[in-house]
Amino acid sequence: MQENQSTAEISTAPETAAKYNFPGKNGYFGKFGGKFVPEILIPALDELEQHYQHALQDEQFKKERLHHLREYVGRPTPFTLCERLTRHYGTGKIYFKREDLCHTGAHKINNTIGQVLLAMRMGKKRIIAETGAGQHGVATATVCAKFGLECIVYMGAEDMKRQKLNVDRMRLLGADVRSVESGSKTLKDATNEAIRDWVTNVDSTFYIIGSAVGPHPYPQMVRDFHDVIGLETEAQCIEAEGRDPDYVLACVGGGSNAIGIFYRFIDKKHVRLIGIEAAGEGADTNKTAATFSKGKPGVLHGSLSYLLQTHQGQVELAHSISAGLDYPGVGPEHAHLYDTGRVSYHPVTDTQAMDAVKRCSMLEGIIPAIETAHAIAWLEELMPGLSKDDIVVINCSGRGDKDMGTISEYFYGNNQEESKA
Ligand SMILES: *Cc1c(COP(=O)(O)O)cnc(C)c1O
Repeated sequence: MQENQSTAEISTAPETAAKYNFPGKNGYFGKFGGKFVPEILIPALDELEQHYQHALQDEQFKKERLHHLREYVGRPTPFTLCERLTRHYGTGKIYFKREDLCHTGAHKINNTIGQVLLAMRMGKKRIIAETGAGQHGVATATVCAKFGLECIVYMGAEDMKRQKLNVDRMRLLGADVRSVESGSKTLKDATNEAIRDWVTNVDSTFYIIGSAVGPHPYPQMVRDFHDVIGLETEAQCIEAEGRDPDYVLACVGGGSNAIGIFYRFIDKKHVRLIGIEAAGEGADTNKTAATFSKGKPGVLHGSLSYLLQTHQGQVELAHSISAGLDYPGVGPEHAHLYDTGRVSYHPVTDTQAMDAVKRCSMLEGIIPAIETAHAIAWLEELMPGLSKDDIVVINCSGRGDKDMGTISEYFYGNNQEESKA
């Protein structure tokens, strides 16, 4: 790929389009998205889309989903005024949307509840998923236990070693965690294995994808299942402040918690939307996950979006201290929101994020996930320029319990092997 390539010229796309089935306009966000998958999966994606569109219109499905979100996930989640953080900066009022208080400790379960209900509606009794850090695997194993479905989670052998606690959680929940020994033995290899399984068992099997990524209709479906975050935020902000927020911030890995809170506000141009990507050791270094700062358009996991890649178009390994943001791609809708300028995206380094973990813990009594701390860190840049009346909402995507191994090691030199989550 050329250094100065614009998004209009995408080297990976024409090749891939010839090799695979090109979906046309449907399933695109601007020029991003699509269904770049082996031919054999196209009927499965079409079937999924058909059932999904049908479910969207079905009052019964809506009622059932909201019932489980309320009684099992614990929605609506609170909208917390962060008084000491607010005083700390002395400008603008800071609120957290508390997805960390969802059952299992993060927003991910909003999506797995939605997809598992759809799977059952389609008569699929075998669920597969891929997982990197294990958080999506746990959220999938959780809903499979609840509804009594077979659950197979593919996980890189390297990740299984690093995330033993989550592996054991999944096993305790009844999932069959399958070690993937190929390639770098991490997330992308686990994803390849999950896709291979899906190709083989497509009639019986539903593939639950964990972020707003993958081929159409997944990015749209995952967004819709997380849209409840923005809907609640809008109503809660009106109740607390009598108006919309001025700024909404979220961290972006694949982009599901971010699109979940942003989507409701996309047409409200007075609400400024800010996505924070993980810069790792710096957006200009090779140890980064800053997809927009450093990546270029390309195809990964079934869709066209921004991607960290070499000049030859090979996917580069991402790095971030937070496993949930350690992904070389980003959801295609974010790529479109980036190109149109509706959302601004900024990189935050490992160091900035870890400082924010500490600041937030000590000032609010909330230990955030390291992913979430990336968004919290951006307050350092944002707040000095604001006025007292500005309202800032951060999507508090998850709690930091899962990250205590990394946090201990980072601040207190404690070598706890099992959770670099
Ligand atoms: C997985 C995860 C993320 C990143 O995923 P998105 O799809 O970008 O939301 C962010 N925060 C937490 C707590 C997570 O577990």
